[in-house]
Amino acid sequence: MNGHFAAIGNGPTAKQYDHGIQVIDEDKSFNTNLNDYLTETHVAESGFNYHLISVFGSQSTGKSTLLNHLFGTQFSVMSETERRQTTKGIWLSKNKRDSANGSPMADNILVMDVEGTDGRERGEDQDFERKSALFALATSEVLIVNIWEHQVGLYQGANMGLLKTVFEVNLQLFLKDRQSQTRSLLFFVIRDFVGNTPLENLRTTLITDLSKIWSSISKPQGLEDSKIEDYFDFAFSALPHKIYQPEKFLAEVDKLGARFTTGHRSTKDQEFVGGVFLPEYHRRIPADGLSVYAGGVWDQIVNNKDLDLPTQQELLAQFRCDEIAREVLVGFDTVIAPLEEQQSEAIRLGKPTAVLADLGAHGAGAREKCIKAFETQASRYHKGVYTMKRGELESKIDTRLKALYQAQLTAAHKAGVAAFSEAVSGAVKAGQKAGGSYEFAEIVEKQKAKTLQVFKKEAQSLSIPGVAWSNFKPQYRLFEKELDEVSARLRKEEMRRLAIRVERWVRSRLGDAIGLEFNKLGSGRGGSVTPEGAEKPATEKDLWDRVWDAFMGIVKEAETRFADRAKSFEASPEEVEVGLWRLRRKSWVALREKIEEEVMESNILMKLRENFEDKFRYDEDGVPRIWRPTDDIEGIYTKARESTLGLVPLLSRFRLSETYAPPDLPGFIGVQPAGVEPEDEEDLLPIGGIDEEEGKSLEEETTVLSESKRQDLVVRFKKMADGVYVEAKRSAIGGITQ
Ligand code: GDP
Ligand code: MG
Repeated sequence: MNGHFAAIGNGPTAKQYDHGIQVIDEDKSFNTNLNDYLTETHVAESGFNYHLISVFGSQSTGKSTLLNHLFGTQFSVMSETERRQTTKGIWLSKNKRDSANGSPMADNILVMDVEGTDGRERGEDQDFERKSALFALATSEVLIVNIWEHQVGLYQGANMGLLKTVFEVNLQLFLKDRQSQTRSLLFFVIRDFVGNTPLENLRTTLITDLSKIWSSISKPQGLEDSKIEDYFDFAFSALPHKIYQPEKFLAEVDKLGARFTTGHRSTKDQEFVGGVFLPEYHRRIPADGLSVYAGGVWDQIVNNKDLDLPTQQELLAQFRCDEIAREVLVGFDTVIAPLEEQQSEAIRLGKPTAVLADLGAHGAGAREKCIKAFETQASRYHKGVYTMKRGELESKIDTRLKALYQAQLTAAHKAGVAAFSEAVSGAVKAGQKAGGSYEFAEIVEKQKAKTLQVFKKEAQSLSIPGVAWSNFKPQYRLFEKELDEVSARLRKEEMRRLAIRVERWVRSRLGDAIGLEFNKLGSGRGGSVTPEGAEKPATEKDLWDRVWDAFMGIVKEAETRFADRAKSFEASPEEVEVGLWRLRRKSWVALREKIEEEVMESNILMKLRENFEDKFRYDEDGVPRIWRPTDDIEGIYTKARESTLGLVPLLSRFRLSETYAPPDLPGFIGVQPAGVEPEDEEDLLPIGGIDEEEGKSLEEETTVLSESKRQDLVVRFKKMADGVYVEAKRSAIGGITQ
């Protein structure tokens, strides 16, 4: 902390600033509390709407007295009785007056009282004089040069030395900053003006002297021909003796005060219109950066470095833009951080489908507010730096928003997919409950549109106009693609359900139809065996033709049912093809199983027995035989037995009567289409020798009874027939004994 304030010792308060603030103290150190002072006096918030004035002049020429009257400040004034040298340094105070001589003064006038400038008067070194002149020129719009009337024309006088210094340092500054072409106003205030010499004459004398000084200084290369008017404007004012003419003095000071207002140059004759503050004098340092800028400038000056104002302005811009960015990010953070927290909390809790409400509005609002606030404050600084820092800020904000939005859309995506499959499954279940009359494709279409709409709304709400990364069309398309995948999966399930229903139907129909055909075997209908020996009945010979016909008929009907239904939920032709192939293949499996059931030993033996008994016990008219001892029981028995035994080879193989070959099962089932997933069902392997290793051959598939089973069956049947025969014999004998 600066020594001046350390002495007071209880931190900056409004009271402390009654006398303004000592910007540079006697030890040449800069007071970093300047910004506090500017904040306290509400200058910091004024942007460019402030003005800086410095006063120069020999010691004890009434400078502080003048400033205090002009601006209501309280710079310390040398006591008239003590006449003690005031301390060196630069004091700054804000104008405390609103108006002068009845007219308003400019807003936020900051006045710098540069003390102890004129070192040569006291035989001191001119180091401070030079440094404070540089400092004042780098910051001030108006330099008041305070001068006694009797000093005017004294070309060798002390004031002229001071002015020479001012001109030299100005050229030094200008060398580094040719672009900005900042001008300054040298405002000569002539004190103890008697009035004998008109002000106009004094003015001419002063300008002549100034030109002489200008030509006497050595100019840097390239600026040899420059004129004093290239850098400075001049204004003049004269004040009466304060002690001798106190009232007149005050009145004139008041009139002078009225000139501290804004003005401009007339376009016609370039004459000043209005007050002394011309826009071209302003250093364009935003008020909230003035302290940092002044500090930087002073640091360069005090360390005898080349004062490079453009560089200082860039450094200031970097510093302030960073500072402003930090400030505006705080506001952004208060909105965004809780949302980020909520989001990661949801993921932590295993709720990946949690979608934050109104995220788009909150995000865009915080973004806009943050960038606007930055723009308002930071755009006053160096354009290049500002643009770069704004870009940095935007990318900082956008990185966070982007992460937030991406996660939001991921959640919306997951939530949407879950809602979609749930809604479709729910509608299907409800449809099944209500009797199965639902349209799967319609359900899918309706739910898809609904779910897409929800996602679209979210994606659109996150989109920020003119911000490329916030266009979430790719995410939308990804979402739609996933819904289609889910639909395809659900449709496949639906197809499976349909296939199961149709297969069940096939099984049931086959059960009836095939059972019926096999039952016919038992009845031996169509003719019995005559003692002369009748031909084998047609019903037995074409058993397999009828089985095959029934099978094909049932499967064809099932195929129609399946295809119609599958089409209604918009299965693709490929999916339908696969489904139909599976249906035919599985129907064959069902048929095989039904046949196997029919030829199970107990079943087939019973049928053979019935077949045999039908032929043995009934005559050709279907009348039961009453055996008499005279009957050729043995002959009838042998014929009936052989006739029934003739069925065994017939039953053993699935052969069509016409060709005595197996039916064209591979042709009927067809070539296995691509897209069948055989991993789940072994019985979906193709039939008919495409790969003998994997699938069964057609021969195997159409073999109903193996050789050993066949022999076994013959043996058992014969035993059974023998029993019947013995019983018949007995009953014939018994009939006689009766
Ligand atoms: P500074 O050192 O230039 O700031 O001068 P000060 O304002 O401290 O005043 C120095 C002395 O000059 C004080 O004793 C004042 O009373 C006196 N003084 C102030 N104004 C005038 C003036 O207009 N004429 C004369 N002759 N003396 C003045
Ligand atoms: Mg003073």
